[in-house]
Amino acid sequence: PALVIAIDGPSGAGKSSTARGVACRLSMAYLDTGAMYRAISWACLTDGVDPTSHSALFARAETADLQMGLDPRHPTIIVDGHDVTREIRDPRISDAVSAVATTPEIRTLLTSHMRQIINRNPRIVAEGRDVTTQVWPQARVRVLLVADAETRIARREAQLLGKVDRHRVSSSIVDRDRKDSTMSEFDKPAPGVTLIDSTYLDLGQVIDQVVGLVPTELR
Ligand code: C5P
Repeated sequence: PALVIAIDGPSGAGKSSTARGVACRLSMAYLDTGAMYRAISWACLTDGVDPTSHSALFARAETADLQMGLDPRHPTIIVDGHDVTREIRDPRISDAVSAVATTPEIRTLLTSHMRQIINRNPRIVAEGRDVTTQVWPQARVRVLLVADAETRIARREAQLLGKVDRHRVSSSIVDRDRKDSTMSEFDKPAPGVTLIDSTYLDLGQVIDQVVGLVPTELR
């Protein structure tokens, strides 16, 4: 049966691991909407597009062909024929992505692309910043996943182990929180959205909580 699960939250709260775990458990597709912003950012960086020009960023975004692989076991993203699945995790992209994400025309473009993907894949877990509120507010299950900043920094640090130092991770997360806060508000969930605080939960417990929100007949 059709089932859309939308999960939003700040970076490092555990959205991706949770969304992928839930999708695997319930045999659903998985959409990482942040990866779409990152892929556009990759294309703009690669082409040397002026990051201060919304119109130049949008012009590049408009011509980008994004192909999303929705398998929660190994999600992929291809932009204009380049598999950028790994490259978009680079801190270089994390630093540059907010210029793309704060360009209103790009948000409109990517939001409509996300809606097409969800329409074509009626059993899907979609994860991001504004999926519960803008992209698909009609989702059957809507979750805001949060965690204390210290915990989020520690998790990101573990993920990037050896690649960058703690100070770099900390400032990147704090910085991105600040930039992202202009477009998304994570202090309190929107009406109808369930708040899950993962600070003192392990991944399995968070997945259990999300699955617990799904009506039994839809699992
Ligand atoms: O989730 P992730 O950290 O990969 O997202 C990268 C960036 O993309 C976020 O920092 C945010 O600026 C942007 N984003 C967004 N709306 C979404 C998902 C991500 O603006 N739905």
